[in-house]
Amino acid sequence: MKLAIFMRDPTLFLRNEYEDLARKELDWKLRVLQGPSTPWCIVDRKKVLMFCSNNYLGLSNHPKLKEASIKAVQSHGAGSGSVRPIAGNMDLHVELEKRLARFKHAEASLTFQTGFAANSGLIPQLVEEGDVIISDELNHGSIIDGVRLARAERAVYKHTNMHDLERVLNEIERHSPAYRRILLITDGVFSMDGDIAPLDEIAKLCAEHGAMVYVDDAHGEGVLGEGGRGIVSHFKLTRDKVHIEMGTFSKAFGVVGGHISGSQDLVNFAYNKSRTWLLSGSHPPAVAAACIAAIDVLENEPEHVEKLWENTKYFKKSMKDLGFDIGNSETPITPIMVGESTVAKKLSSRLFEEGVFALPIVYPMVALNKARIRTIMNAALTREDLDFAIEAFTKIGKELKII
Ligand SMILES: *Cc1c(COP(=O)(O)O)cnc(C)c1O
Repeated sequence: MKLAIFMRDPTLFLRNEYEDLARKELDWKLRVLQGPSTPWCIVDRKKVLMFCSNNYLGLSNHPKLKEASIKAVQSHGAGSGSVRPIAGNMDLHVELEKRLARFKHAEASLTFQTGFAANSGLIPQLVEEGDVIISDELNHGSIIDGVRLARAERAVYKHTNMHDLERVLNEIERHSPAYRRILLITDGVFSMDGDIAPLDEIAKLCAEHGAMVYVDDAHGEGVLGEGGRGIVSHFKLTRDKVHIEMGTFSKAFGVVGGHISGSQDLVNFAYNKSRTWLLSGSHPPAVAAACIAAIDVLENEPEHVEKLWENTKYFKKSMKDLGFDIGNSETPITPIMVGESTVAKKLSSRLFEEGVFALPIVYPMVALNKARIRTIMNAALTREDLDFAIEAFTKIGKELKII
C-alpha cells in the first residue's frame, strides 16, 4: 500500500502542463467562426475579413458543393454505417476515387478520412526493417508521425537543399548492409513559408538512386499546376518519377478527406495495408458528394484558380512595396515576417480589432526569431477587400514600427 501522501490525483499533470503552456502564452486561444468560411465572416461576434483559412478557392461555401451535400444526405443518409472494407463502401466513395484519378491524370486514386490518416496509415506500410526513409527537415507533422510509426531507419536533409539531399543519398548508397527500399517524402508546398519543394530535382536524384518519391501536396492542390491539379502537374512530372502523390480535400477543395494517387498497384497495396483506412469509418455520403462537386468545379470553373493567383500577386506586390518582409513564398501563403513572438501576437490582435483575421505563427511552430503573421490568399476576396486589408496592415505596421 502506498502512503496517503503519494496517493495524489494521477491526472494532475494535465492541469500542470496546460498551466505551464498558458503561462508561456503557448496555449491555443480558439476563435469561433459563427457561420460559413467566407471572405467576410463572423468570428467571435465580430465581422472580419478572413485572411488565414485554407479554403483557397472559397469552395467550402460554393453552391454546387452545398447542393451536392444536401442531395447525398437525402439519397444516402447522414453516415456510411461502417468502415470501407466491411459495409461502408458506398458508390459515392468509388465515384469520387474515379473522378480524382481522372482529374490527377493518374491510373488510380484512393481516399482516406483525412490527409493525416493517409500519411500516418500508409507511410509505415511502405517500408520495413532494413529500409530507409528520407525526409525534408520541415515536413508536416502528419508525415513525422507516419515516419515514427515506420520500422525503417530515418535520414533528414536540410530544407529543400539538394546538395544535402545528394549527400544523404550517397551515404545511403554506401551503407552496409545495403538498404532494400528507399522512400523519400516531402511536402510539396511548405505551409509555414509558402515555398515549393524542387520536386523535379528531387525526382531526378531519387531516380538515380532507385528511391521511391512520396509528395504531400496538401497546399499545392487547387493552387499549383494545370487547373489546380497540383505539384506533379506544376513540374510536368510523370508517374514513374513521383510514385505517391498524396493530398487532402480539406484545403482548396473546401471539404475534408485525404487521398493518394498513383499506380493501380499503389492503390491495391494501400487499401489492403493502411490501418487507418481499414479500421476507421468511411466518409459520410455528404462528404464524398461534396468532394466530387469540388472536382467538378475545378474542372469547369477555371476562374477560381486564376483569381487566386491574381489576388496573390496583387497582395504580395503591395505588401512588398510598403516595406514588409514577406519571406520567400512562391504561393498564396504569404508570411509577414516580424521576428519577435510578442510583435506577431500584437500585430494579429490589432489586425483583428481593425477587422482582419490573420493568425500569428510563433515559436515552437517556427524558430524563435522567425515569428510571423501567416496570411493565406483566397480567390473570393475582391480588390476592395484586399485594399481594406492592406490599409489595416499599413496602419498597424506603422503603429508597431514594422514598416
Ligand atoms: C493540412 C495538411 C495535412 C493534413 O491534411 P488533413 O486532410 O487536414 O488531415 C497533411 N499534410 C500537409 C502538408 C498539410 O498541410
